Parts: sequence; structure tokens; C-alpha cells
Amino acid sequence: MEQKDRAWKVAVVGAGPAGVYASDTLLKRLKEKASLMGIPKEAHIDIFEKNPAPYGLVRYGVAPDHPAIKLLSQALDRAIGADEISLYCNVGYGRDISMEDLLPRYDAVIFATGGGEDGKWELGGRKIKGVCGAGEVAGWYNCAPGIAAPPLSSKAVAIVGGGNTALDVARMLLQDPYSLSKTDMPFKIWSKMVASSVREVHIFIRRGVEANKFSAQQIRQLKACSRLILDDFSKKSLEEFHPEGKIAEEIKSELENAGHENEKKSYMHFSSSISSLFAPGGALEALEASRNLEGKKKADFCLKTNLCVSAVGWRSERLPGLPFDESKGVIANEGGKVEPKVYVSGWAKRGCDGLIGSTKADASQTVEAILSDWQNFKQRPIDDSPIEDFLLSRNIPFTKKAGWFALEGYEAALGKPDSKRSVKVGSEREMKRISSLAQ
Ligand SMILES: Cc1cc2nc3c(=O)[nH]c(=O)nc-3n(C[C@H](O)[C@H](O)[C@H](O)COP(=O)(O)OP(=O)(O)OC[C@H]3O[C@@H](n4cnc5c(N)ncnc54)[C@H](O)[C@@H]3O)c2cc1C
Repeated sequence: MEQKDRAWKVAVVGAGPAGVYASDTLLKRLKEKASLMGIPKEAHIDIFEKNPAPYGLVRYGVAPDHPAIKLLSQALDRAIGADEISLYCNVGYGRDISMEDLLPRYDAVIFATGGGEDGKWELGGRKIKGVCGAGEVAGWYNCAPGIAAPPLSSKAVAIVGGGNTALDVARMLLQDPYSLSKTDMPFKIWSKMVASSVREVHIFIRRGVEANKFSAQQIRQLKACSRLILDDFSKKSLEEFHPEGKIAEEIKSELENAGHENEKKSYMHFSSSISSLFAPGGALEALEASRNLEGKKKADFCLKTNLCVSAVGWRSERLPGLPFDESKGVIANEGGKVEPKVYVSGWAKRGCDGLIGSTKADASQTVEAILSDWQNFKQRPIDDSPIEDFLLSRNIPFTKKAGWFALEGYEAALGKPDSKRSVKVGSEREMKRISSLAQ
């Protein structure tokens, strides 16, 4: 093959929906457009994933009681099943591989590393036990590697945030554990849900009732497992502002249905923020919230709790060798382009907001940026030695696509006796062991 005809080689860092959609879209667009553009239409894509399993927040964020969304993993399986795509799990950029390793080997490197840490408070620079991000709680009930169980021994839990993630976590903490027994949660996690003392969640929302960002479906699902209660201020604002639309209707219908009782309760505190945390021994014991009104802030609510979950302020992780946009909390980019040969897609590109579907549109923009660069780019020789030799030379214990499919098969077999689609393997070591048997 002449140099000008060689297949493109692309590295994708992160096997979440953004990484998989970018790979799939690139292969499809090359097949459609390459001849017209006068560039080679073949490509080989290596996806590097730091975890033992791919699909990012589809596996580790989406709530287990949303099985239809979890099923997206089947579409992602079909995409990575393409012969042109190789998957290397347990390979972390910045931990096992660097920009210097990737650039000489690939024509393009796409970063699709998603959201990193979610916002949480510190007290005098100390981390407080019992104060954590929604991503950690969602990661725990989804068996993400290395995440400890949150304390579920208080009757009340505080959740901060006015988006769907806040409601997801609220619903999961109040959900009837017997309905969760039908999900892919392993017994270890499910039994903690059964033993949970949580009976009420208090959701503190910075914005007013007229400007909230929930989806009506999320409110409906929360109402199905708890009694929805607005504090007096929020109730008054609802009467005052008469917000319209499905969400307001969902809230109003619940308030009108005052006779309906439920042992579990979701309290909504609009225009409210946490103003103090009390953790004298390093673990949260109580907190105070204040109303966000013009002028002075005055604490007007106190809650005894040992768990406060922050569902606000996600940011992508700053990665070595890449420019970072501090104000947006993303890898600095213009339309997906970071610097020559380096691109970004998904939450790492446009910020940690939006549904899985939006990463697809995002992938298209990034792929167009790559193709337009390739049109003006004379292919240069690259280091074509097998990437696996390189990973082995570094003693990186990677597992491959066959390993992932074997793990999926194993999880499906675990679910079979209870007629479930699957049950997750909860231990990282066990995931690696099962995957590596298929190498
Ligand atoms: C709690 C929660 C619930 C959600 N529920 C829904 C829902 O019900 N429906 C919906 O449509 N959307 C939902 N979303 C949003 C959805 O998950 C995102 O839109 C989507 O996952 C973003 O895709 P991404 O690929 O950009 O990031 P991610 O899904 O975060 O994927 C990034 C991938 O990159 C990997 N990675 C990160 N750093 C490195 C590194 N250094 N080296 C190698 N690999 C790395 C990660 O391990 C991960 O696999 C939810 C989000 C959260 C947080």
C-alpha cells in the first residue's frame, strides 16, 4: 500500500457514549465522504478506557431503575463490535499512557473523558465525611470501581441541586428496595438499600420554583415513591408566580392531592442554599440552609443528617498535556478541535450537562472537524508497531473487546436465575479476572 493510501489510525481516550459515538460516526462518515474528499476511507480506531468496563455513565451513572436507558449499552456494543475498532480497558490516560505515547502512533487523538469530579464542600480545607457528590452516590449504587457506600443511617438526607441528577439520587434513596431487586444491582448493594434508614430527602434548589430544570417525568417518578412536599416559602412562590408547564402541573397536582400519604417524603426547598455544615468530629451531623433572597442571607432551616449529596457543578478532569478552560471546566477547544491532531467530544468538550443523545450530535461536530483537517493534511509516516506490544512493554494489564463481551455474558448469566437481564459483578478485581480469561 502506498503511503498516501494507508488507513487512518485514530486513538480515542474514554469509552463512554461520546467516545463510542465519535468512533462510530468517524467510520461511517469516512465511508460516505472519503472518496469525494480524496482521502483514504479506511480507518482503525483504538479506544483506551481507564476502567475495566466501557460505557462510562451509562454503566456508572444512569439509575438502575431506568432499564430502558441502560439498554443503550446494546447499541454501544454493536458500535464497538466493528472490526475497525479495538478496545483496551484498564488503560488510563495520564496514568498508563501519555500524549507523547499517542501522538507518534496516531493521525488523530480524540479525548472523550467525560465528567471528572462533582462538586462537594470542604470545611476549613477538610473533606467532611458524609458530604459527597451525586456522581459518587450514583457510582456506588452502580458498582463503580473504588467507591465506598454513603452513610444511609439518617432518617433525612440533604440533596443540593435543581436538575435531573438530584432527582435521580433522591428517587434511588427513597425507592422501594423490592422494586430495586429487579435491577442489575448485586446483592451487596441491594442489601444496603434494604437496610437503609432514609425516609425523607430534602432537596435544596438555588433557583425559584418558576425557573427549575427538572423533567416532568423525573417529578412523576419521584412522586411514585414518595410524598412530594413544598416548604411554605416554595408553596407561596408557586401561588404567586403561577408557573406553567408540565413540571408545575405535576407539582401542583401532588399538592392538591393532600390526602395521599406515603411513609417516604421528598421535601423541596426552592430558592434555598446550604449555608453551614456541622461536622465537629469530621463527619456531618447537621446543616443549615438559607433562602436566596435579595439582600441578606438568613438561615431558616436546620436539618439533622449525616449525608449531604451535592448534585451541582460537575467539571471535566484536567488532564496532563491538554489545555483546560477553567471557566467552563472542559478541555479547551473550538468546535471539538484542541490542537493539531488532538480533538475532544462529549462532556469533556462542552461541559457536564445534557443527555446521552446529545453526545451523538456532539460527535458529529468533532468528526467534521477531523475530516476537514484531513482534507488538507498530507499523511505522514507514523509508528505502526502493534499498540499491544507497547502496552505489554509497560506492563499495563489491559483487557480487550472479547474480555468485555465475556464479562457482559457472565453478568447476563448471573441475572438468569432471577429472570433479570443481568447482575453486575461488583468487584473490580473479579471484573478484570473474568475479562482476562477471554484474551
Ligand atoms: C448520575 C447521572 C445520571 C444520568 N442519567 C441519565 C439518563 O437517565 N439518561 C440520559 O440520557 N443521560 C443521563 N446522564 C447523562 C449521561 O450519562 C451523559 O450525557 C453521558 O454519559 C456523557 O458521555 P461522555 O462519554 O461524554 O462521558 P462519560 O459517560 O463520563 O464517559 C467518559 C469515559 O471516559 C473514561 N475516562 C475518563 N478519564 C479517562 C482517562 N484519563 N483515561 C481513559 N479513560 C478515561 C471514563 O471511565 C468513561 O468511561 C446521567 C448522568 C449522571 C451523572
